[in-house]
Amino acid sequence: MVKKSLATICTQGSWKPKNGEPRVVPIYQSTTFKYDSTAEMADLFDLKAEGYFYTRLQNPTNDIVATKITDLEGGVAGMLTSSGQAANFYAIFNICQAGDHFVSAESIYGGTYNLFLVTMKKLGIEVTLVDQNADEAEIRKAFRPNTKALFGETISNPGVAVLDIEKFARIAHSEGVPLIIDNTFATPINCRPFEFGADIVTHSTTKYMDGHATTTGGCIVDSGNFDWETQHDKFPGLTEPDPSYHGLAYSKSFGKKAYIMKATAQLMRDLGSIPSPMNAFLLNLGLETLHLRVPRHCENAQRVAEYLEKRPEVAWVHYSGLKNDKYYVLAQKYFDGGRSCGVISFGLKGGRDVAVKFMDHLKLIAIVTHVADARSCVLHPASHTHRQLSDEQLLEAGIQPDLIRLSIGIEDVNDLTEDINQALQTLYK
Ligand SMILES: *Cc1c(COP(=O)(O)O)cnc(C)c1O
Repeated sequence: MVKKSLATICTQGSWKPKNGEPRVVPIYQSTTFKYDSTAEMADLFDLKAEGYFYTRLQNPTNDIVATKITDLEGGVAGMLTSSGQAANFYAIFNICQAGDHFVSAESIYGGTYNLFLVTMKKLGIEVTLVDQNADEAEIRKAFRPNTKALFGETISNPGVAVLDIEKFARIAHSEGVPLIIDNTFATPINCRPFEFGADIVTHSTTKYMDGHATTTGGCIVDSGNFDWETQHDKFPGLTEPDPSYHGLAYSKSFGKKAYIMKATAQLMRDLGSIPSPMNAFLLNLGLETLHLRVPRHCENAQRVAEYLEKRPEVAWVHYSGLKNDKYYVLAQKYFDGGRSCGVISFGLKGGRDVAVKFMDHLKLIAIVTHVADARSCVLHPASHTHRQLSDEQLLEAGIQPDLIRLSIGIEDVNDLTEDINQALQTLYK
């Protein structure tokens, strides 16, 4: 894809009004769609014709917004979900069933960690976590004959570790499975994982894509590049006849769109994690300025990271835009202009208790369970999002117990550094 057109896709992509039609994406707030004949509706139920019949399966507003994200990622098909959690669940469950196994990087979001290790296990699906920085031979040891996918986050939440996507793609493909990447923190403005060999991308659109803390949502995008047929026996759900659709086989009927068609026809049909058209509309408003907000988040975060690095009260700072950061080289390779995201993780001298007190002294930067919002915010994962994990599990997920997750917004950066300054001064007075 031509990188310069990202801005045009954000503002005008996927909704092309015809003469006299609304300029803005319309909200089709309707659960149902009318047809003149039973035969037409029957063809839709058989997946023989394309069209809308019930919003749990598909809705025009949702599809317009899903197509925009698909175009930003450079994929062939995409679908919205009601949350990022639903997106990651569907992405895996679409190709794994009881008795199957998948491999994941261990630096992942806390909600995803619980989903993979606790809930998936109850469904009979096992996961092995791997150190994403280990060499290829070491990571390949985690694969088994029943392994169906490899998963990782472009930039991990909250550890802000950068994934070596090409390495992960090589491993996945030599094991005959797709690479699924959660691209929430980087967004397609900074990184498009398909360009580096990823097969499927997921998002929590709740974060930068919405960007204004109004709308929970998720998205799955397929590159169309993984050839399910060459791994026919490994993915019978895609390649063998589906008894719940009169024996239709997704890979044969839908080719490159098979994966998303199956997720829609089976998972949305049966589990129903659909966003409301109103929420898709709000998400689209966020997307229209994504290309402006993301670079600003990154510029501000770079300045704040450099500021923190210089403060004597600060024990450590992780931000891949810093020259001496462990992930600086990977960030330069994978991210446009080396920009990663607006999230910084750092620790204060004095550890966990000092971290909590520092946060209580902040005035402009708010304590909220959120990240990637236009307004700066802060969270202590060990006390909040990752509360269920032991210190040992925290470290395994790349999270020091004293880690402060600072999500830098698009305010005037001087006001942000001043807020940090006054909180540190009050703390050490
Ligand atoms: C927030 C987040 C999720 C979960 O998304 P929700 O929209 O909160 O359900 C998944 N992955 C990453 C990287 C996240 O930051």
